[in-house]
Amino acid sequence: MCGTQQVQLKAILDEAGKRLKEASAKSDVEDIRIKVLGKKGSLTAILRSMGSLPPEERKELGRMANEARAEIEAMISARAEEMSRLEQSARLAGETIDVTEPGVDMRLGSRHPITLTIDEISGIFMGMGFGIAEGPEVETVFNNFDALNAAPNHPSRDLTDTFYITKDTLLRTQTSPVQVRTLMGQAPPIKVISPGRCFRADTPDATHSPMFHQVEGLFVDEGVTMADLKGTLDVFAKRMFGEGVTTKFRPHFFPFTEPSAEMDMSCFKCGGKGCRVCKGSGWIEILGCGMVHPNVLRVGGIDTERYTGFAFGMGVERIAMLKHGIDDIRLFYENDMRFIEQFK
Ligand SMILES: [Zn+2]
Repeated sequence: MCGTQQVQLKAILDEAGKRLKEASAKSDVEDIRIKVLGKKGSLTAILRSMGSLPPEERKELGRMANEARAEIEAMISARAEEMSRLEQSARLAGETIDVTEPGVDMRLGSRHPITLTIDEISGIFMGMGFGIAEGPEVETVFNNFDALNAAPNHPSRDLTDTFYITKDTLLRTQTSPVQVRTLMGQAPPIKVISPGRCFRADTPDATHSPMFHQVEGLFVDEGVTMADLKGTLDVFAKRMFGEGVTTKFRPHFFPFTEPSAEMDMSCFKCGGKGCRVCKGSGWIEILGCGMVHPNVLRVGGIDTERYTGFAFGMGVERIAMLKHGIDDIRLFYENDMRFIEQFK
């Protein structure tokens, strides 16, 4: 009887050892513990069966069973610990970051071509001592028209041309009201440019947009003449489009300047021979300018006997379109990445 149980003990020990070796998870180890040491486990069954043995044999077998039990418990706890370690290193391996792997491509934005053009224009004028002045996009009708000497019947005042907010306020149709604000808020010498957004009730097409950008300039001091105007704007044209361009001034009319002129520059593409960019004429119209009208200076309380000044204004989109060969103004506002990314 006792011999049979010894054989069984040995078999249980061997079996437990073999299965523990094969275990691949902590839960397998726990299953083995229950099958051997649990209430209905194989070793527990042997210990229970000992009651029917004679005292001597019972004592001997009890000692052997306890030894076997201790051995199995030790094997189980060693294996359980090993399983924990393996599971942890497997988890850590899964969480490892390979720093040599190529990163996720972050989409880095770039400055908009309009912003780039404004920055370039501003940089040129700042190099000639101009500061930057800014004003609100919602303006008073007074600052946008009256203070700029626009006659009460001036066509741009029309409801169909201008976005009115109320009877007295509107979305500015030009950046010129910043001139008015500067003249009213500052004593000469005044030397500023004012880049910004403007609005007109235009139907969008290849060359018109109801929202667009201008850069306006103003220089008021003692003894400022038309020669200063021409020199300053000629330098601008050369810095912006290349040292080879020449400029010419054609008489024009603006209510806020007298005399007024439009500046043309020789075509930077063909050098004046005539091409698609200059529409065959060899010249490109670039901006409007003139000597500030005394009525405008008076609005700012400036002594027109002592001070004179010149002003100019240009369309940012037009400059950008010329410079980059863009043929449709709407491209600037469609936010098509294929277009915008070309200006990085
Ligand atoms: Zn040309």
